[in-house]
Amino acid sequence: MSNDWNHLFNRMPELLAPTMAKDHPNLPVIKEEGCYYYGLDGKQYLDFTSGIATTNVGHRHPKVVQAIKDGADQLLHGPSGVIMYESILRLADELGKVTPGNLDCFFFGNSGTEAIEGALKLARHVTKRPYVVSFLGCFHGRSMGALSVTTSKSKYRQFQQPSGLTYQIPYANPKECPENVDVDAYFEDKLEKDFNTLFKHQVTPEEVAAVILEPVLGEGGYIIPPKSWMKKLREICDRHGILLIFDEVQTGFGRTGEWFAAQTFDVVPDIMAIAKGIASGIPLSATVASQELMKKWPLGTHSTTFGGNPIGCSAALATLEVLQEENLLENAKEMGAYALKQLELLKEKHSLIGDIRGVGLMIGIEIVHPETGEPNGDALFEILDLALEQGVLFYFCGNASEVIRMVPPLSVTKEQIDEGLAMLDQAIHLYEQKV
Ligand code: PLP
Repeated sequence: MSNDWNHLFNRMPELLAPTMAKDHPNLPVIKEEGCYYYGLDGKQYLDFTSGIATTNVGHRHPKVVQAIKDGADQLLHGPSGVIMYESILRLADELGKVTPGNLDCFFFGNSGTEAIEGALKLARHVTKRPYVVSFLGCFHGRSMGALSVTTSKSKYRQFQQPSGLTYQIPYANPKECPENVDVDAYFEDKLEKDFNTLFKHQVTPEEVAAVILEPVLGEGGYIIPPKSWMKKLREICDRHGILLIFDEVQTGFGRTGEWFAAQTFDVVPDIMAIAKGIASGIPLSATVASQELMKKWPLGTHSTTFGGNPIGCSAALATLEVLQEENLLENAKEMGAYALKQLELLKEKHSLIGDIRGVGLMIGIEIVHPETGEPNGDALFEILDLALEQGVLFYFCGNASEVIRMVPPLSVTKEQIDEGLAMLDQAIHLYEQKV
């Protein structure tokens, strides 16, 4: 079996389309459990990726696995509009207790991308306005609609032009605030000005259906905008009757230390897209809005065969239970603060480490050229490979490839953080010796 697997792994380039320009790390694994992967090489790897914020309760949590098994004994498939089943209604009921404000009505899909598509269509359908404003650096998925609001500098634009229905404005990166200037006031003012410029030269506010953003930038470099900026954004949307969409695909389900980033920022959007952490690895997502908005769901233009599948719903119900029973939101806050503190110590040792930032267990570690402080993507890739050799799996931000993302399961312990950071320390040390 193992030989066969090895042989297949070597044939990967001919069997599978490439997933990344740089195909890093493609760790061949045979098993996952808790905070760990078990490799084909027989080694145990500490996982600081959680499938990019998917396995928030840890890999193959026994409760989730049992719920999947129990669910499979009853029902595997539930095409919506044909039959109805308990788990999907129970899930909507339970989720509605933890989603922000009056966002308690759901359209279930399979992926984050689909949840974004649904959100965009809903906004345009409800407002009868054509345009959407998105933020530079945000990532929202790779279907044509989701790509059209995925407005980053790089590869996402390779083959596809913007749909012509979207406009972009800058995100708030606290690092870009001039020295000795109040960050809150600076970004509030800047946002107002960015919108004024947009409305003056490109599109009138009455033509804009929605503004969409990641409340914490994921692929774009784990950037946390100021709270007051987010509140200002809400205010501007309200002023013009524009719907505010939060893409909580990466930030949801405890990642920021609250159920959703909306609660972290104390801003309730009109529509949310949720996925990833919802069902601990089983494909499931949802577009979420108030009942009032959802009554206008664009039925003919957005539906799905597999969305809200019963197995996903069972897994999601168990995931919600585990997040609460094991106090994982609190643990995310505590362990996040601890990791940031430890990373600051590491930064004192290594001038290759630049800015360190995070909220909950969504942490970004910049790798820079020590002399200039400029982004150093090449070093990052070598460091990640060396870290993997030590036994810890990290990943990078797809669109800011000088930033390591540290996204362990929310069940991570202090000991595991220490262990993982010691391996990162060693990896950076080995890199420093080499160059
Ligand atoms: N939005 C964000 C913020 C994401 O991080 C992702 C995936 O990484 C998506 C949307 C797309 O989700 P999916 O890959 O499940 O379609």
